[in-house]
Amino acid sequence: MSGQVVQKGIAIGRVKWIESLAEIGVVKTDNVEMELSALNGALVTAQSQLEGLKAKTEDEAGKHEAEIFEAHLMMLTDPSIIDPIKESISSECLTALSACERVYDQTINMFESLDDPYLKQRALDVRDLKKRVMGILSGKSQSGLDHSTDPVILVAEEITPSDTLEVERGKLAGMLMMTGGETSHTAILAQSLGIPAIVGCGNGLSHLEEGARIVIDGLAGEIIAASSDEDIANYEQKKRDYEAERHALKAYIGLSSVTKSGKSVEIAANIAGPEDIEAVLKNDAEGVGLFRTEFIYMNRTQPPTEAEQIDIYSRILKGLGEKTVIFRTMDIGGDKEVSYLNIPSEANPFLGYRAIRYCLKETDIFKTQISAILQAAVSGNAKIMFPMISSVEEFLKAKAIVQEVKEELAQEGKAFCGDVPLGIMVEIPSAAILADSFADHVDFFSIGTNDLTQYTLAVDRQNSEIADLYDYMHPAVLNLVKHVVQTGNERNVWVGMCGNAAADTRMIEKLIEWGIDEISMSPAKVLESRKFVRSLA
Ligand code: PEP
Ligand code: MG
Repeated sequence: MSGQVVQKGIAIGRVKWIESLAEIGVVKTDNVEMELSALNGALVTAQSQLEGLKAKTEDEAGKHEAEIFEAHLMMLTDPSIIDPIKESISSECLTALSACERVYDQTINMFESLDDPYLKQRALDVRDLKKRVMGILSGKSQSGLDHSTDPVILVAEEITPSDTLEVERGKLAGMLMMTGGETSHTAILAQSLGIPAIVGCGNGLSHLEEGARIVIDGLAGEIIAASSDEDIANYEQKKRDYEAERHALKAYIGLSSVTKSGKSVEIAANIAGPEDIEAVLKNDAEGVGLFRTEFIYMNRTQPPTEAEQIDIYSRILKGLGEKTVIFRTMDIGGDKEVSYLNIPSEANPFLGYRAIRYCLKETDIFKTQISAILQAAVSGNAKIMFPMISSVEEFLKAKAIVQEVKEELAQEGKAFCGDVPLGIMVEIPSAAILADSFADHVDFFSIGTNDLTQYTLAVDRQNSEIADLYDYMHPAVLNLVKHVVQTGNERNVWVGMCGNAAADTRMIEKLIEWGIDEISMSPAKVLESRKFVRSLA
């Protein structure tokens, strides 16, 4: 079984299922007063539980994580939820349980119907609150976990923050969810508590039996059921090794990324949205070398509005203070589908109508994004780069659109940053070969080895049959990379690398020798890369 790892690591423990609440439906009472007082009692108990959890979380995970319970406390007494519950009891004679179910479900549905992925996830918070209040009303224990001292792996269709935090800190080993939810608070909490967690595991999880001993291998992204004692011993060793390694990396926070002989490189992080800010800061990345903005266009029914984008981009820039953030404009198409954009299905999507090719034709969508970035850029240090550039003309067209947007913003009297540097992803061989011509026009290069490798070697980056041929250390790819870095040096153009190769020590060694300015990778890899850089002569 496998899924999407939201927190790396190894967890060994016993399965504890978190059951969903049984459905209540419409149940009437002939004692309205009693139901109203039961509701009030439950609200008081819930309040004291939440205050306790808030204090506990502040101690164990930090103030920021405890904000979740602050939000629950506010929702608990929110008149837009509480008043209709009371009203349903008084005027329709529903039981407190039945009224809570109805109103919480309506609130959950309301949040789920919203387009903003962040707000959508708030449905999970309401669901958590519903479970708490209804749990108290029905007399069910909230901790839900047995009294054994074995480490516990929580398994559920969906886990709420309370489920994780009612467990003794030392006992909670890992979490598995059938559904996805990268921006869910549960994922955020798992990350800050350092508990291995995999989401989007699907229905396969239902085969896991309560109490069974299992392993989450959050390094390989696998869930191993029914392991032998020998397997368990091996995973215990793997866990110890991994934890010792991670712990030692903290020593590299605050240090510069410089070799023994004084060659320095900036180590930045790749992000997909505001939910990654914390990981950037925690891992002491020096900036964001790639913000894959296309993710904010996904899982919705229409493109994010300009206002939504300004909000998201500003939050990121403000959250990262002085650090530079490179916004890659929407790189849609290829393996990243967005249904509402109506890109027809193609025989060769990776060679097709995507990224900048789409943006230069659908200029409304492109201009909205550029406008949002330029306006948000007053809040921090932003750069813009265009994906899938194959010719200088394409870059010049994109640059002209940026100019147009600036003029429009100036006419409208809106505040924006007028000198955001413009660069390109070097991920198509033609762009690498023509680095010198591009150097006349661009402010910076960022080498995207994920695509550069597939296009140089004609190897589909997704096809597991030919995975052995997909090699970014192939001499042809290295030649192109070297050419771009050296051209950048000669022409005084800043060069970074944001493909996965940037975190490979073999590549890092070469890049530093050639004189690259920056390498950008997943936040979790920043400190180990800094350690490696500092070990180089
Ligand atoms: C790349 O192609 O190397 C890159 C960083 O972009 P993506 O993986 O999003 O295509
Ligand atoms: Mg790419």
